[in-house]
Amino acid sequence: MIIKISNLSEGTHEFIFEDGVESVGLEQPFFGKFKSLAVLSKLHDQLILSVKTKFNVKYQCNRCGADFDSMLNSEYQMVYLQNEKPADTESDNITYLSRTADKIDLKDDVREFALLSIPMKKLCKEDCKGLCYKCGADLNKEQCKCNKDEIDPRWKPLMNLKDKLNFN
Ligand SMILES: [Zn+2]
Ligand SMILES: [Zn+2]
Repeated sequence: MIIKISNLSEGTHEFIFEDGVESVGLEQPFFGKFKSLAVLSKLHDQLILSVKTKFNVKYQCNRCGADFDSMLNSEYQMVYLQNEKPADTESDNITYLSRTADKIDLKDDVREFALLSIPMKKLCKEDCKGLCYKCGADLNKEQCKCNKDEIDPRWKPLMNLKDKLNFN
């Protein structure tokens, strides 16, 4: 994922990269091919890069444990400065290039930002019902018996009240 910056004219340039995830050093949950759109704006000795990447991912649902495929969109911006790096500056979104640098390689940043964009919560669908905590049945597929018989202890006082009301 290399962009040549020597002889790059002032203004905005677009680049598209398509490759297998292994080429940027990613493994599961990433799989197959990814596609990146990189927009690079050059202004004097400053380059502003904006990268959007679409990945295929294979997750395991946090609730029901089923494997499912999904898309992951990863996006980041990076400013490249052809300057001496100030000793006391530390920024994740600024990269200092030497005056003689003739290319930038997006590979490492694409990988890092992809890893950061993996969500904590992975659900096969928003309303996944998960597994029965007693019998392990997949409640997306079936309604098990224990679900009806067993009442969450937190609801017991409320159910007792309901029983009393029903007696009248
Ligand atoms: Zn699920
Ligand atoms: Zn059950």
